Amino acid sequence: MFDWLIVGAGFAGSVLAERIASQRGESVLLIDRRNHVGGNAYDCHDDAGVLVHRYGPHIFHTNGQQIVDYLSQFTDWRPYEHRVLARVDGKLLPIPINLDTINRLYGLDLSSDELERFFAERREKVDEIRTSEDVVVSTVGRELYEKFFRGYTRKQWGMDPSELNKSVTSRIPTRTNRDDRYFTDSFQAMPLHGYTRMFERMLKHPKIKIMLQTDYREIRDQIRYNRLIFTGPVDEFFDWQYGKLPYRSLRFEHRTLDQEQFQPVAVVNYPQTEDFTRITEYKHLTGQKAPKTSISYEYPTDVGDPYYPVPRAENEALYKRYEALAAARSDVWFVGRLATYRYYNMDQVVGQALATFRRIQDTLPSAAAGERAKVAAE
Ligand code: FAD
Ligand code: UDP
Repeated sequence: MFDWLIVGAGFAGSVLAERIASQRGESVLLIDRRNHVGGNAYDCHDDAGVLVHRYGPHIFHTNGQQIVDYLSQFTDWRPYEHRVLARVDGKLLPIPINLDTINRLYGLDLSSDELERFFAERREKVDEIRTSEDVVVSTVGRELYEKFFRGYTRKQWGMDPSELNKSVTSRIPTRTNRDDRYFTDSFQAMPLHGYTRMFERMLKHPKIKIMLQTDYREIRDQIRYNRLIFTGPVDEFFDWQYGKLPYRSLRFEHRTLDQEQFQPVAVVNYPQTEDFTRITEYKHLTGQKAPKTSISYEYPTDVGDPYYPVPRAENEALYKRYEALAAARSDVWFVGRLATYRYYNMDQVVGQALATFRRIQDTLPSAAAGERAKVAAE
């Protein structure tokens, strides 16, 4: 009999397994249907010995010191600031759009003040910003929207930006200075020896047992446990009783090349004609030196593992119905990107898992606390 069954060994499940085992002294069975821990952040060495991310580029960035402190127990860090280029009209240009993007795209020499005016002359008046199209056309105008956002978004999500919540393209700022970093968070780094090594250190505890290639649906009636934490898709947990929640997936094409470097930065976006959205070259992220290099192409698709909740009002409404079912299950905790249907980054999932652990501590007296009280009373 286990004190806890945790479904999913990504950030959500692994943080909670670690906290429960180390702070409450309770036993955890952590299962995942994949053949590895780490969830979508999993990395591994490919046949050429290059450290790659199997599910696309994962860059750690956060403003949460508590989250950095927590993860730093399990890894050292390699400072890394992410820079992305977009191939537009045959040129490689910085994205997010900044002063250099515009000057190089149009062969101009604008100052920051002049660029403010350039945008002001082009931006469209939108009374209420609701969609991902509204966000961009009301900031930089339609031509730049078409070049950098419309095609990329249509590929990535299989729908037009006008059909997606504003939250999607709001992730990408517009700058009038020359800052070409993708993120501006106070902490930006990669785990020094990779994500998987960090997860292995987190989960190395005598109270944690891991079972891989194990689907919850196959074992739920065979394993005995007291409490459940579920980090898979919430609609699946409830047998899709209100219908399927849409999740967007990706197909990755991984390649190793007989050359030291393929492209100047870790990620190049293709917002125009190609079928893929972006190419990642992993050595830029990890700092690894090797005579060969490994890259991956990302082809968005509706079939395959669920990766992204799709931020749209109707999906949010369907999720609310599942959320109500989840709230009625006081014996189950739903945590993570799939179980709470939120387009969360890794640090936000760690924050959510740590907050869940605090709630567990507040509501359930732990075996370890009971033991301490008994010793004190004797
Ligand atoms: P997951 O990592 O999805 O883990 C859930 C686990 O549950 C999976 O391993 C799955 O196999 C398992 N599971 C599900 N159902 C079952 C079941 N029924 N039985 C058994 N196991 C089950 N975030 C960043 O901060 N920076 C980035 O640069 C970044 N890049 C990203 C790039 C891509 C292509 C993607 C898809 C995501 C990216 N993210 C990034 C987001 C990041 O991957 C997530 O925030 C994080 O991995 C979510 O962790 P999680 O534990 O909630 O979910
Ligand atoms: N986006 C775009 N062009 C780009 C980069 C991003 O249109 O060159 C849009 C697209 O809709 C994407 C969203 O902005 O899904 C958020 O981009 P981000 O890089 O944050 O997505 P992630 O890969 O982290 O999910």
